[in-house]
Amino acid sequence: MGRLNLLRLAALASLLNFIKAIPAGHKTFDYVVIGGGTAGLVVATRLSEDPGTTVAVIEAGPHHVNEPLVDTPELFSRALGNPAFDWRFVTTPQVNLDNAILPQPRGKMLGGSSGLNFIVWDRASQREYDAWEQLGATGWNWNSLLPYFKKSETVAPQLQADIFPQTSQPSEANFDAFHGRAGPVQPSYNVIYSNVTIPYVDAINSIGVPTNSDPYTGNATGVYNTEVAIDRVKNIGKRSYAASTYFNMSSDRPNLTVFLSTQATKINFDLGDSLLSLFSSLLSSLLGLGQMRASSVDVVAVNSTGTTGRIFARKEVILSGGAFGTPHLLELSGIGNPEILREAGIQTLIDLPAVGENLQDHPSFTQDFEVKNTLFTYDLLRNNVTFNASQEAEYAESGTGLLANVQFVLTFSPLKDLISSQLLSTVQDDATKLINAPGTSPLARRQHRITRDFLTADDVANVEFIMFPGGGRTRVAPAPGSAYITVYTCLMHPFSRGSVHVNTSDPLASPQIDPSYLDNDIDRQLALQGVKLARTITQTEPLNALVVSDHSPGANVTTDADWIEFTKGFLTTTYHPIGTAAMLPRELGGVVDPLTLKVHGTDNLRVVDASLMPMLIATHPQSTVYAIAERASDIIRGRIFGY
Ligand SMILES: Cc1cc2nc3c(=O)[nH]c(=O)nc-3n(C[C@H](O)[C@H](O)[C@H](O)COP(=O)(O)OP(=O)(O)OC[C@H]3O[C@@H](n4cnc5c(N)ncnc54)[C@H](O)[C@@H]3O)c2cc1C
Repeated sequence: MGRLNLLRLAALASLLNFIKAIPAGHKTFDYVVIGGGTAGLVVATRLSEDPGTTVAVIEAGPHHVNEPLVDTPELFSRALGNPAFDWRFVTTPQVNLDNAILPQPRGKMLGGSSGLNFIVWDRASQREYDAWEQLGATGWNWNSLLPYFKKSETVAPQLQADIFPQTSQPSEANFDAFHGRAGPVQPSYNVIYSNVTIPYVDAINSIGVPTNSDPYTGNATGVYNTEVAIDRVKNIGKRSYAASTYFNMSSDRPNLTVFLSTQATKINFDLGDSLLSLFSSLLSSLLGLGQMRASSVDVVAVNSTGTTGRIFARKEVILSGGAFGTPHLLELSGIGNPEILREAGIQTLIDLPAVGENLQDHPSFTQDFEVKNTLFTYDLLRNNVTFNASQEAEYAESGTGLLANVQFVLTFSPLKDLISSQLLSTVQDDATKLINAPGTSPLARRQHRITRDFLTADDVANVEFIMFPGGGRTRVAPAPGSAYITVYTCLMHPFSRGSVHVNTSDPLASPQIDPSYLDNDIDRQLALQGVKLARTITQTEPLNALVVSDHSPGANVTTDADWIEFTKGFLTTTYHPIGTAAMLPRELGGVVDPLTLKVHGTDNLRVVDASLMPMLIATHPQSTVYAIAERASDIIRGRIFGY
């Protein structure tokens, strides 16, 4: 980014200090986008392509330019918990995890979570996107999203020499059918492999999971080399994320204004008078009438001044605050479950009980295994000062080397490849019981029927194993001079359903996040089977010959009871919350109309971010969020009509 843009951003950041003095006409924009994160920057960039349209972005975080903790791939995860980058949300005490309170990081910066995430760039299987439409999200399926996956990316194909072991290069035509060549984000493949990779892939194949040469084609199961959002063409060796791509291509536009370090605290509607609002609320809940019109957004400066202000929307407000921020702001603005709002001291404008419900996340369990220290793993950076210095020098010089890689090997497994048919049928029976349980909501019932079908599908994964060739990622510190592999086991289609809600009208207080992890027998059973399998993989040849010991949780964990304690004590998020403003019909527990993405009961308030996804998919969600936002932009611009 040029010096001029930096100056311009700085000026915009301080704009709030003067906002009260600015006449309303000068702080009025056609579109006001709340949240300059992954989805928000896509929408702002696409809407501002029309020079006659003015767009404002309100982003609570700063813009990090030339910041190693964001840019350097190998430093992924180091910014977690740092308030300069992370909202640092936590869960409520998790009753099924001995009341543990767990971190729920979210990116708080221009680029949002795309600047904080672990860089994996993949997709789910066709059947999972098609399930969204089957559920009620009309128009949202694999075929309608594929052009937008491609529109968001320019994928650097692998050189034959760099290709993932034992896979073949897709033909150019096949590659072009499923991969973008002209989009803003610049994903690429690994160019360095650990020598533990081939033995690991062989072990995975031996437990019954084949290698997938191109998982971007609609069947995303198997073990494969994932693309990563690392730019090897333009900003060589750097994270490619919403701020460095979409924002950089639009930042010079005079019709785009970004308010940094500015938090939206409330969306205001035309029906401002409280009696009128109450009347409208009654109408909207009783008759389904009374569409509310968003007219402005209250904001506060996220700095010691705490200056407040108001930004006006001539046409629309687009809410892109993410799976936690979006329902939180809807509730702060009076849209949600009246009981929850009343308890928080907020007047209900739209009775929409689905707001903040349907929270789904991939739970994850991390194990590491000591391997022979003659192997080439990321531990070398820790163990060998000279090697580390040479890698840092190479990265500074050319943007290459270990610091420009993350080397995850992903395995997405259908359940039937992993567990006995007897256990599979027990899990299916448990799913049926859950579907028929009196407490299961109509939406969850529909979702669980689909998930029950996924349990026996060939082309949908239920468990993901992520292998990282290196240690230091569990609670047991790595020993000096030792090498490790880390295996993360993640549940892809959990049956747990959680929520995120306000419990105070203070807009600066964090929302109450309750993912309800492991709240049912199926998730607990699959977690147990998954972590046991992670160890089995490392005991399978040829990998077994390289493994020195089970480092964490350790060889003394042997019985099912031990493993269950491990799953309860060591569960973490995979950082993939979705679903809290689901695009589904209102009567089915939807918050947003799938055709228009307008919040039910409103005329011009749309949601575009991960909270729209009605059901989890077996993938890391960022590329899907970009694709959703690209398609949403076309819907907003009237280029497609939602189906
Ligand atoms: C630690 C971590 C690791 C992850 N790893 C991966 C991975 O490897 N691969 C992958 O595909 N996905 C990964 N994800 C998930 C992925 O990054 C997210 O699903 C995706 O980025 C979400 O996009 P979004 O637009 O919904 O939200 P975000 O990108 O989070 O954007 C929301 C934006 O809104 C802003 N905001 C919120 N509330 C307000 C408000 N009231 N006022 C102003 N601004 C506000 C936030 O600051 C943020 O910038 C990871 C996520 C995290 C946190």
